[in-house]
Amino acid sequence: MTGAIQEMIELLARLPGVGRRSATRLVFHLLDASPEYAHRLGTALCQFHNQIERCSECANVSDMNPCPVCSDPHRDPKVICVVENIPDLWAIDAGGTYRGVFHVLHGLLAPLDGVGPDDLNVDLLVHRVEQGDIQEVIVATRPSVEGEATAMLIRQALEEQSVKVTRIASGIPLGSELEYTDSRTLERALQDRKEI
Ligand SMILES: [Zn+2]
Repeated sequence: MTGAIQEMIELLARLPGVGRRSATRLVFHLLDASPEYAHRLGTALCQFHNQIERCSECANVSDMNPCPVCSDPHRDPKVICVVENIPDLWAIDAGGTYRGVFHVLHGLLAPLDGVGPDDLNVDLLVHRVEQGDIQEVIVATRPSVEGEATAMLIRQALEEQSVKVTRIASGIPLGSELEYTDSRTLERALQDRKEI
């Protein structure tokens, strides 16, 4: 194998979910593809990092600032849903029922892994609440030790503000059986019960 082929395989094999075998297959696929496609892919990759920026309001990433979510006039800017990362934002937004805006933390509180309060995007959230007429902040971090600790951090950070801070219910996955659900999830599901 020549150096260029080896280099391409090594670069592609670093991508998540792509092992050496898949990388090798991709490289030979690219060699067989039209030069125009390879050129477009290369150009898009080169420009990618320069085109994408963080939204100055919510820290979402896109090629617009403010991002398409913050610029959408059909959303309710008075309700902010706080998420750990961009895939979580997309997951909640794909549901289609939530029509407020978001705030991306880019992490969760994890002191043992060296992630402290200053590493999360909480100051910007407090600033948004101070500046705007925000009615509710929904903390949608996952139900783990880190997710709960982060939710507490946000509640404390917003203590001085007259804003309602809520936490999503962590229920039992649809279709699962109660007996296989861990006791903490069951406990949370009971606590967060809604009237029917
Ligand atoms: Zn935004």
